[in-house]
Amino acid sequence: MRVRIHRGATEIGGSCVELEAGGSTLILDLGRPLWASRNEEIPLPPAVGLGAPGPKPLALLLSHGHQDHWGLIPQLPSDVPIWTGEGAADVLRAAEFFGSGIDLKEAGHLQNRTEIEFGPFTVTPYLADHSAFDAFSLLIEAGGRQLFYTGDFRGHGRKDQAFQWLLDQPPAGVHVLLMEGTNIRRDSASGESIESETDVEHALVETYKNTTGLVVVLASAQNVDRLVTVYRAALRGDRDLAIDLYTAEIAAATRRETIPQVSPDWTRVFAYLPTRQRVKVKQAGAFDKVRNIRDRRIYDEELLTRPARWVLFGAFQSQIASLIKQGALADGAVVWSLWDGYLSDAGGKRLTKMLAEANVPLVHHHTSGHASLADMRHLVEALNPDRLVPIHTEAPEQFATAFQHPVELHADGEWWDV
Ligand SMILES: [Zn+2]
Repeated sequence: MRVRIHRGATEIGGSCVELEAGGSTLILDLGRPLWASRNEEIPLPPAVGLGAPGPKPLALLLSHGHQDHWGLIPQLPSDVPIWTGEGAADVLRAAEFFGSGIDLKEAGHLQNRTEIEFGPFTVTPYLADHSAFDAFSLLIEAGGRQLFYTGDFRGHGRKDQAFQWLLDQPPAGVHVLLMEGTNIRRDSASGESIESETDVEHALVETYKNTTGLVVVLASAQNVDRLVTVYRAALRGDRDLAIDLYTAEIAAATRRETIPQVSPDWTRVFAYLPTRQRVKVKQAGAFDKVRNIRDRRIYDEELLTRPARWVLFGAFQSQIASLIKQGALADGAVVWSLWDGYLSDAGGKRLTKMLAEANVPLVHHHTSGHASLADMRHLVEALNPDRLVPIHTEAPEQFATAFQHPVELHADGEWWDV
């Protein structure tokens, strides 16, 4: 089995890996680079049967539903079958209406520790703890050689048991561990300690208790782990939760009974629609979406009369100006529950300024979707591979000092043997 990383050898995002055995190929992830601007055209990587001549790949395996792993799929020829987790595919379908998803029209679904055959390849998915819903790592075997691709993973999220299970019962005989190293950085090779989702929950409870007005938590609607964290904290802080339509549809798409839903079964969960989403529904004539949540919908008056009752969670960035103007955020707080880096872009700067001018505190409660150095080390020890190859990192050269195992660096576009 041969491998080439098409993108990710020296960058975070845009991941794509090609595997070849006996003249057949498989593609793992087909991401859009994080540096690409919204309308920028990014060509498909020159994989066999895609950008380069040859038979089409047997399949594209998508590890999880983050755009830096799936964003080039719209350019994939439709006769290449796509496999991913069922939950991940459903979440992406639900997100399409809101401009952040896609209907993959997938050919099949990855299931935890269930082998699938693609020509000479045998693939075994391992459920991963990550900030995207229903994420997998992938063990790929061909011609007696084994490669374990982590995809994106962590050990401090709400599915930390999935990570623990992998450590306790790892696959045997892995030759190459192709591991993401988002949190390995040039300036901090030793790695900082990382808060868990449970730490974030505790911190949120404090903010809810210390705030006498409304609390708005700005987060990714697709970060289902964070929704659960914010909900659990709301119960402990004795507040009700109101989510936007996008988050409500993502939660419904998970079809998990343990995920908070806008439904009569969840007596402390409600819906509040930002103006932008109300307009979108109207323009698209998608009134069934609003009908689904009608009985549990709250309006501006409710936020104004009883602000301390509520936590808003979701994609509310566009609504902050209006909430300030109405007075709904008087004595309130806004929680930034996203990567801090987004605060440096134009929208983030506008938000920071707007809140400062209105005297509304901007509080940070967030944790990484990616493994700490300590958890990466646990994984390397558990899998005990012959060689470790970095991907999805800006500092591959730091791997050699960070890990005891033999590290091999491979550039984008270079073929190498497993
Ligand atoms: Zn990811």
